[in-house]
Amino acid sequence: MMRVFAVAEISSGELDPVSIELLNLANAIKGDGSAEAVVIGSDISAHAEELSKHADKVWKIEDSSLEHYNPELYVDVLVQLFSKEKPDVVLVANSSRGAEYAPLLAVKLNTPIVTDIVGLDLSNGVKATRYIFQGKLLVDVFVKEAESYVFTVRQGVFKDECSAQGEVVDSGIKPSAKAKREFVRIVEPEAGEVDISQADIVVSVGRGIDDVSNIELAEELAEALGGVVAGSRPVIDSGWLPKDRQVGISGKTVKPKLYLALGISGAFQHIMGMKDSELIIAVNKDPEAPIFGVAQYGIVGDIFEVVPALVEKLREIKG
Ligand SMILES: Cc1cc2nc3c(=O)[nH]c(=O)nc-3n(C[C@H](O)[C@H](O)[C@H](O)COP(=O)(O)OP(=O)(O)OC[C@H]3O[C@@H](n4cnc5c(N)ncnc54)[C@H](O)[C@@H]3O)c2cc1C
Repeated sequence: MMRVFAVAEISSGELDPVSIELLNLANAIKGDGSAEAVVIGSDISAHAEELSKHADKVWKIEDSSLEHYNPELYVDVLVQLFSKEKPDVVLVANSSRGAEYAPLLAVKLNTPIVTDIVGLDLSNGVKATRYIFQGKLLVDVFVKEAESYVFTVRQGVFKDECSAQGEVVDSGIKPSAKAKREFVRIVEPEAGEVDISQADIVVSVGRGIDDVSNIELAEELAEALGGVVAGSRPVIDSGWLPKDRQVGISGKTVKPKLYLALGISGAFQHIMGMKDSELIIAVNKDPEAPIFGVAQYGIVGDIFEVVPALVEKLREIKG
């Protein structure tokens, strides 16, 4: 029976939504096996309960020394768990943390690892799908047969939720040694920032917005739609929007219900971060702009005419 383990991610005491995405993937590939979550930290009972709604079993690894993320301690406790509970597949978020400790875990478990995957098929051998050459090519990686496998999974890809009602098990596992590095402090991002990867509606602006003073226009549209404002790289590089609003290969991957691209040409580095949105609407004055190749609806026009008209119409409809 296949056992797929998803290691939950906790950020500043909160359960990161990517944890559920890992379980969505686990449920999709487990066949008649089990999707199991692992949650590491201190004071994590509420997180374990939340995870149990999407997992067949949740393993709690709780200790005061695990309050803050520490790669040595994470690998230490995971190796202890997996020496007793043999995994077939271990899924870790391809976050900065996951990218740090997952390879270390794979070495300790002596398993192959494929990082930053966007697809996984276990029906005929092990086939993981990932981008290479900064998103230019999508490749299938066939992994040699092994006892178990570790994968880091791209955020924002596996959003189809599965529900379950799993039991929560207290593993009783504690770190076996003190970590060599110590937690000092967390540097929080600026207060009030939004997570564009979790938004249902994204109003995204490109260089066509022309000046920081015009960002307001996009904000008005986002507000009328109940969405958030994001941008292409030049907009972020110009300092018109914060870095965490960037969509694309060197920014965030988004998969909203609606993605509005305003004055964005559609370079592949941008497309990679938004092409899986449910509905894409592009406004661009250049009818040849590549963005129209991925958009379901396109308006060839000037954003400074189209956007105010849209805002007005939306306000009219809302009353
Ligand atoms: C390693 C690497 C990583 C990168 N990572 C990213 C990334 O993560 N995200 C990203 O976005 N880019 C990334 N890029 C940059 C990418 O290649 C493009 O340069 C960038 O996406 C272009 O942004 P843009 O579409 O806003 O600007 P442009 O390509 O300059 O396009 C502006 C568009 O606005 C239109 N326009 C202008 N004025 C108006 C108007 N008034 N009304 C309507 N339309 C108008 C123009 O017709 C044009 O199509 C990366 C590049 C490299 C090399």
